[in-house]
Amino acid sequence: MPRCNENRLSHITIMNTIEEKVLNTPFIDTHEHLIDESERLSCIEPVIQCDDWTLLLNLYFRFDLASSGMSQEQSNRFFSKTTDPIEKWDIIKSHWPYIKNTASGFVFRNTVKTLYNIENISDSSIKELQTCYESTRQKGFYRHIIQDIANIKHCHVHSPIRAFRKSESPDLLFQDIALDGLITVSNIPFYVPEHFKINSLSDWHLMIDWWFSEYGQIAKGVKIGLAYFRRLDFEKAEAKSVEAVFLRKINSQPVEWSDEKLLQDHLFWYCIDKATEYGLPVKMHTGQYAMNNIMDMHRIKNNPSDCALLCKKAPDTRFIFFHLSYPYYEEMLSLAKHFSNAYIDMCWSWSLNPLAAKDFLKKFILTVPNNKVFTFGGDDVIVENVAGHATLARKGIAQAINELVTDKWITLNEALELVEDIMYRNAEKVFK
Ligand SMILES: [Zn+2]
Repeated sequence: MPRCNENRLSHITIMNTIEEKVLNTPFIDTHEHLIDESERLSCIEPVIQCDDWTLLLNLYFRFDLASSGMSQEQSNRFFSKTTDPIEKWDIIKSHWPYIKNTASGFVFRNTVKTLYNIENISDSSIKELQTCYESTRQKGFYRHIIQDIANIKHCHVHSPIRAFRKSESPDLLFQDIALDGLITVSNIPFYVPEHFKINSLSDWHLMIDWWFSEYGQIAKGVKIGLAYFRRLDFEKAEAKSVEAVFLRKINSQPVEWSDEKLLQDHLFWYCIDKATEYGLPVKMHTGQYAMNNIMDMHRIKNNPSDCALLCKKAPDTRFIFFHLSYPYYEEMLSLAKHFSNAYIDMCWSWSLNPLAAKDFLKKFILTVPNNKVFTFGGDDVIVENVAGHATLARKGIAQAINELVTDKWITLNEALELVEDIMYRNAEKVFK
């Protein structure tokens, strides 16, 4: 990119230059829930509910459908593998005008435009949509979509199948260790490998140690989604103070929340100390809940201040906070500015509220050291949608930077220098 004499550049030239730079710069995608390609092609349950064009809508768009008033019965029929794919359009048609302009609608429209070259969703395009879905969903499509189409170097994956999965494409789908069930004592095969017999808290500790010794060297980070279920106010608690509660828990006896909280607090810090020992950043869900009719906004409001206390309690741990703690993103700017161990991952943000994400990124660039943000993750299960999320994110990133240049906060050259850091270099440096 040649250095430009900016006084001679029109706004259109500036925007075009920035768009081109953002388009041609690869992302490191720091958060997805992708299963392996062979699992997708064999439609493993329960992750893949149907194998037609509506699969592309079976996550965030589905939640918007429910929010718009679609009944559970309609939703079940729409995502069923037994309903005819072409007839499915009739179920969704009356809801489409209300969702097509939401970010989840844009992700879908971007995906079908980018992958299938379909511009308009209507009665006449559904058949073509289904044909294109089938012809794209073929062996080799993961790498083609992620690298060739979406221009993503690789993804970090939080597996929906096991606490850690060795991927069949280890250079494309790097993995994080999922910690939720290890902290909440979820005694299921997802977290408890067959060869472990759990009779005491120290057995549980040994099992946590095993996940780290087995996969800590190849994991990119650890992931915690407990903000969906509780405050992030984890206190330090000694093992001996929670041993009895642990035994009640694994013997399926009733446990008071105050006791259970203490047990979770203890295991949280046990896991965090392990992650820190292995040099693994700790990725945490904050803010908005996916799904419908469950969100505790009082609790979310506390996320930024709870996160600040975590940063203070564990100065040697690198915390990566997800989703801007939306809608409380000003607080997250303050947090990331203050704490040297706080980083922000904008995964899902563009497909949640793209204008808030743009606003956040502009403010971040002018407020927080620019090495502490990762700007992309689709947070999706379906690989096709990664292309749609990436298009939306690139549009937002280009607009954010363009506005900073045209409003004369930074120069065009400064803007262009920034792009590679926020799209992949920061991630390369933080996630070894
Ligand atoms: Zn996620």
